[in-house]
Amino acid sequence: MTKLNHKTRRADLAQMQADPLDVLVIGGGITGAGISLDAQTRGLKTGLIEMQDFAAGTSSRSTKLVHGGLRYLKQLAVHEVAEVGSERAIVYENAPHVTTPVWMMLPFYKNGTFGKATTALGLDVYDHLAQVKKNERKFMLNANQALIREPYLKAKGLLGAGVYVEYRTDDARLVIEVIKKAHAKGALVANYVKATELTYNVAGQVDGVVFVDQITGDSGVIHARRVINAAGPWVDTIRKLDGSDAGKHLHLTKGVHLVVDSAKFPLHNAVFFDTPFKDKRMMFAIPRAGKTYFGTTDTTWTKDPKEPTIDARDVTYILDAVNGMFDITPLTFDDVESAWAGVRPLIQEAGKSPSEISRKDEIFHSESGLYSIAGGKLTGYRKMAEKIMDKVAKDIATADSSYRYQPTQTKHLPLAGGDPLGSDGFKVYAYSAIGRGVAAGLTKAQAKVVVAHYGTNADAVFDFVKQAASADTTLSPLDYGQLHYGLENELVLRPIDFLLRRSGELLFDYAHMQAITPAVIAEMRRYFNWSEATTLAMTSEVSAQVKLRQNFKDKINDVI
Ligand SMILES: Cc1cc2nc3c(=O)[nH]c(=O)nc-3n(C[C@H](O)[C@H](O)[C@H](O)COP(=O)(O)OP(=O)(O)OC[C@H]3O[C@@H](n4cnc5c(N)ncnc54)[C@H](O)[C@@H]3O)c2cc1C
Repeated sequence: MTKLNHKTRRADLAQMQADPLDVLVIGGGITGAGISLDAQTRGLKTGLIEMQDFAAGTSSRSTKLVHGGLRYLKQLAVHEVAEVGSERAIVYENAPHVTTPVWMMLPFYKNGTFGKATTALGLDVYDHLAQVKKNERKFMLNANQALIREPYLKAKGLLGAGVYVEYRTDDARLVIEVIKKAHAKGALVANYVKATELTYNVAGQVDGVVFVDQITGDSGVIHARRVINAAGPWVDTIRKLDGSDAGKHLHLTKGVHLVVDSAKFPLHNAVFFDTPFKDKRMMFAIPRAGKTYFGTTDTTWTKDPKEPTIDARDVTYILDAVNGMFDITPLTFDDVESAWAGVRPLIQEAGKSPSEISRKDEIFHSESGLYSIAGGKLTGYRKMAEKIMDKVAKDIATADSSYRYQPTQTKHLPLAGGDPLGSDGFKVYAYSAIGRGVAAGLTKAQAKVVVAHYGTNADAVFDFVKQAASADTTLSPLDYGQLHYGLENELVLRPIDFLLRRSGELLFDYAHMQAITPAVIAEMRRYFNWSEATTLAMTSEVSAQVKLRQNFKDKINDVI
């Protein structure tokens, strides 16, 4: 199995500087990850740099659904629904461990936006456009049946519900699985490396970047025949470096999600529901591993995209919608265990409100040759990569006859952890792998978690689990195994990379995350040989991330 760790990072960065690349991708979110995999597998020498951790931008802050975008039918975005709908099935087959089908309920109420006929029609159109498999097509329930299926739905005025399938994902893990695959195919990748300037050849064409390594402070230059700007909410910042940001630009909108324990709200089904607010947004409530999460808001964001804040108004908006929709003891600020906020890098459309702006993706090609891509969805990442690489690969083939244009190779290319199986094969693998996890010393439930999390790389995690017995650590074998797998194979450089993005514990297992943080930091200190000062900085970084998710509780009086 290909390693991806601090040593490969150093070697990859050195190699990117030593030999010009064919393609350099700026941005290690899902868009840049997908482009790197597509480019490398077309036979182009590819590099990827990310200024934070992989997926630290928008790609770890989504609703975590690989979905066909039913809500965009409201905007009559037929093409987008058809495209991402069919991509959904491809993502599932290529990475069945990070995409789990879930039945989603779409309840309708007396005087609501939709009735039975419109809900049924909308779902039929969706099934058709998204080419939904027969066994996953919609069905309808009357009010009684809907309440039996989901007893927490508000009964008053309920007329019934449509039920259809969406795919739940772990966005940050989807990104890392794409990057691991790209790296295994030969792409050079490095997180915590920021592009600070673009470089140009004598003809004024972009031919690389100046970068600063955010870990060591070193700077250097990487040359490439083509540079692709996949910087998400920072796409315009890079275009500005190129002097090509005139015309269309980004409109960032913030979306917040909240997490509560399922003891407070034991929702059984994912529910997609109408909110009673003026902006007519719809919201998701999704059960996940003992928790339920809700979202999202959609408000214009004009400040730094790096760490959009969650304020009391966002929390009130979501809790009001949830408390109005479900027959539960009303949830309060104190019930919120964790939260996250992300910004959508949408393309400005004059006169439209945040919710009305289309999610479609768009490619910009500047006079200097810089390619930029923005908009789109997590779900459509593979298609977005294919579209931009069709152009870039043709462009390279035209300029250099030694490269023969190749079409995309990613449609049937399993991601890391998904190979070589597909969804049916994965079920067979999971059955036997759970046994091996138990033999390595885990409980059956723990082994299941590992298999669901890492797919066919579960066996590599089990190898680290076995080493825990002889290690000087207070971490459980499960935590030790996952941490060391992350250090060796997923380029974990900081505790927050592991606690927030590789394991998701800061979001979905807050108490456990708090309990293991000191031991994780101690283990990483040993592994990296950190000084006292570095260890303190890493500890503060984790505390700051925890605080970001709790700060709004101090502001409760601002809105109430
Ligand atoms: C609230 C919310 C909910 C959503 N829900 C869903 C959903 O359920 N399903 C779905 O399909 N989509 C969803 N989306 C959309 C989806 O999350 C985004 O379209 C997608 O994550 C954007 O990915 P990206 O790679 O373009 O941007 P990002 O993930 O932000 O990646 C860009 C990266 O570029 C890096 N970067 C920037 N500048 C530099 C530089 N100078 N040098 C090096 N690196 C740089 C950044 O650090 C960042 O990591 C949602 C979005 C939001 C905000």
